[in-house]
Amino acid sequence: MKLTGRRRGGHHRVFIPGGRLVPTARPAAYARLDFLVNELIEEDLNMYEERCEHLTEGAVPKPKTEGCEECLKSGQTWVELRICRTCGHVGCCDSTPGKHATAHYHETKHPTMQSFEPGDDWGWCYEHEKGIGSFPPAR
Ligand SMILES: [Zn+2]
Ligand SMILES: [Zn+2]
Ligand SMILES: [Zn+2]
Repeated sequence: MKLTGRRRGGHHRVFIPGGRLVPTARPAAYARLDFLVNELIEEDLNMYEERCEHLTEGAVPKPKTEGCEECLKSGQTWVELRICRTCGHVGCCDSTPGKHATAHYHETKHPTMQSFEPGDDWGWCYEHEKGIGSFPPAR
């Protein structure tokens, strides 16, 4: 089922092509069913779509480096990587001694990051201290 939607003011509108409540020759029960399915899908999206006002729309910026920028300079290794959704800085996670992704937030106040691990779709807002997502994986 193909969904098209457009976010406006933080609210997600979902349309199922052909599933809108318009005068139709189809039996009323079908129209009611379409309506219920739309409601369910909207609820579902709200569960998976955690947003906040710090989040800028659009794709994650191009990564500045392929590994943690600071660890690469000092020759250290990292556990996992995060990418800044404001500028594309790549930094290591809080399980890595450098904690360079969090350090980047404190330095720049860039509020949101997402995981830079292959296939990961989650992110984090440092201002709200809460998870955001889901996103298309950054790599
Ligand atoms: Zn936020
Ligand atoms: Zn940044
Ligand atoms: Zn690092």
